[in-house]
Amino acid sequence: MKSEKKAAPTIVVIFGGTGDLAHRKLLPAFYNLYLDNRMGDDFAIFGLGRSEMDDEEFRDLTFKSLQEFSRRKPEEEPWEAFNPTINYFQSDINDEKSYTELCKKIEELEKDWGLRANRLFYLSVSPKFIEPITVSLKHHGLASDEDKDRLIIEKPFGYDKESAIELNKLINNSFKESQIFRIDHFLGKETVQNILAFRFGNALFEPLWNRNYIDYVQITVAEQVGVEDRGGYYESSGALRDMIQNHLLQILCMVAMEAPTSLNAEEIRDRKVDVLRAIRRLKPEEVNRNAVRGQYAEGWMEGQKVPGYREEKEVSETSNTETFAAIKFYLDNWRWQNVPFYLRTGKRMQEKTSSVTIQFKPVPHATFPGEASDNLMPNKLTINLQPQMDIRLRFMVKRPGLEMNLNPAEMVFNFDSCSSNTPEAYETLLLDAMLGDTTLFMRSDQVEEAWDAIATVLESWEQRESINFPNYQAGSWGPENAEALIAQNGHVWSMNIHKSEKKKEC
Ligand code: NAP
Repeated sequence: MKSEKKAAPTIVVIFGGTGDLAHRKLLPAFYNLYLDNRMGDDFAIFGLGRSEMDDEEFRDLTFKSLQEFSRRKPEEEPWEAFNPTINYFQSDINDEKSYTELCKKIEELEKDWGLRANRLFYLSVSPKFIEPITVSLKHHGLASDEDKDRLIIEKPFGYDKESAIELNKLINNSFKESQIFRIDHFLGKETVQNILAFRFGNALFEPLWNRNYIDYVQITVAEQVGVEDRGGYYESSGALRDMIQNHLLQILCMVAMEAPTSLNAEEIRDRKVDVLRAIRRLKPEEVNRNAVRGQYAEGWMEGQKVPGYREEKEVSETSNTETFAAIKFYLDNWRWQNVPFYLRTGKRMQEKTSSVTIQFKPVPHATFPGEASDNLMPNKLTINLQPQMDIRLRFMVKRPGLEMNLNPAEMVFNFDSCSSNTPEAYETLLLDAMLGDTTLFMRSDQVEEAWDAIATVLESWEQRESINFPNYQAGSWGPENAEALIAQNGHVWSMNIHKSEKKKEC
């Protein structure tokens, strides 16, 4: 029988254990891993924060979070067994004494277990705390075993290329690269991982996966939500930093990378870095023609009036922050020369959807005359990542009848039909981190190259205020300029024609 992944005895320390991410994602993920028998035979979780509470109160809080956010709700028996593994440790990150106390607690636990456990430190706190935490962990000998002790770092990782390099150096003073897990939760999604399976587990697509057959590629990550209560954070970020630099460029890497020789972590990450290096760097004077920014005005979303970005909490009335970004990239390598990759993301968009569209070139010769080919469309492969999770291949067929008329049809693979027990991205990533597998995490050079790929756009947008913000209505598909960006090459955004296309299908 195939062996299943299971963590070794591990002590998890969550800095920011009282925070939003810990309760919405991390604790539910650990609970689900426990239900699936993936946690080690011995494990313990320490939530850290300044809030005053004892273990019991933290466990009650965790129970409520599981009820609200876990994909499987806590049931009496497993919860009773999971409950005592959760501990609260009240502490201030800047208080050196607290690290000595934490060390003592961890060592006591390990003595009870009779072994030196793996230690996983999750930094679910503001990036300004990365330096004090890593320095103190090193100083107090909490992460002294290079093979067993690991650090998980959340996005944002740096603010630009220079700050990312600085941050990498700083963390490398205390941790080896193999101990550092820079998380991009998109990489833990089943549908994103499946891009590799789809590309390299089939002989069918690879011969077509290049400039000879592919016209263009689109990657869209559209959100319906606005900035919610994260206005303060978002003001210093924006769509380019918050989404394109990490999630969208990582998806692009999965779509565009060369075939790895194995699933070895460094091999996969090398191939992804190759893609990031191949992205053609824009010159300042090329930014306007290749990148579009937007900011949402008030509008209607599903019958509700929603405020514009500048009316959101903690957002300046004259904010220049973009809530929408679309960029056309080219890759300078043999496979992708002259194939545009259109990336777009935005908040307050008409639909919540993340997808990749591979648009193939039209047939080279019009075999079918006149009206027979009125509906002729080039082949298209759509990989829907979320919330719809499927793969759709459009191809042409004869419409049944006495005439020879063509019509588009779709072959669909639906993830839901495959499994009803799909793990959440954080489950996959936390288990891999406990196992020391870095494949799905960002290496330092990946992060730096990704910043480099968008550097000119970042600088250009920062240096020049937008004169027409806000420039798209909440509930739309973004600013008109985004249509113009893709229309330059005679292309259209795939999602916008999806519905009308569907009607024509037989
Ligand atoms: P949050 O809800 O504001 O939580 C912040 C945490 O930091 C709280 O647990 C707080 O605990 C703790 N904290 C703050 N100052 C502290 C100090 N001096 N000493 C000890 N603990 C301190 O933030 P979050 O939304 O969970 O986000 C955490 C990190 O994940 C951020 O870097 C964010 O960018 C990233 N992230 C979050 C999400 C998300 O969905 N929330 C998604 C992606 C990335 P006390 O208040 O108890 O002190």
